[in-house]
Amino acid sequence: MKEYMVDAFILKSIRAMEADRVITLYTRQMGKIRVMAHGVEKPTSRKRGAVQPFSFSRLLLRRGRDLDSVAQGEGMELFPVLRQSLGGLAKASYLTELVDALTPDEDPNSGVFQLLLDTFRLLGCGFDSVAVRSFEMKMVSLLGYRPCLDSCVACGSQEVMERVYFVPAQGGIVCAGCRPGLGQAVEISRGSLENLKTLMRWETGRIHQLKIAPPADNEMKKVMRKFIEYHLERGMKSLKFEDLLGNDQGAG
Ligand SMILES: [Zn+2]
Repeated sequence: MKEYMVDAFILKSIRAMEADRVITLYTRQMGKIRVMAHGVEKPTSRKRGAVQPFSFSRLLLRRGRDLDSVAQGEGMELFPVLRQSLGGLAKASYLTELVDALTPDEDPNSGVFQLLLDTFRLLGCGFDSVAVRSFEMKMVSLLGYRPCLDSCVACGSQEVMERVYFVPAQGGIVCAGCRPGLGQAVEISRGSLENLKTLMRWETGRIHQLKIAPPADNEMKKVMRKFIEYHLERGMKSLKFEDLLGNDQGAG
């Protein structure tokens, strides 16, 4: 088979030789792959629109000795709304970098693909923050790191407390009694905990109904960042996690 079709999310585009670009795709069929897009820097290129970052495209790829290349492409969804603001673009870039950093090459996961698509459809519509939190939570869950939020991971207590502690290294929450000695923890309120559980449970199309006050959003953001950072540090994927998590103005 010399040519094959993929449904692809354009995660990243890097300038290569002359008018060529190397494109990182998250595809429904093959997971994350890198391909060459020859000549797309030329204004006359017909593939140009289809390989723009933050687009969902259908691409015909041609097998190559090193990288496969884009033979033809059609942009299916370009998400114009999120492109209208710097905030929208910053969030789109955070989400795609997160997928790039957390997923291994050529390991298809239709859940991740669908999550990207569903979340991009929500960006720029006035609830970006909750969309990003939901994406983070669903993403770690899909990759097998679903945190335990129902009971203390140390003693199993399900007692309802006003404040609990999220311990990334333990993969979940611990009660006040177990907190000492368990390492780095993020203190969160019961409300934030309930919100996190809701994000885990609800499908993406519904999460705009969840109203989160800024203090709770900050706590949730901290929990998700520390958790992702912990897994990236342990070598889940990228070496550039500091860039990813530290430099995300407007990403949440
Ligand atoms: Zn406990």
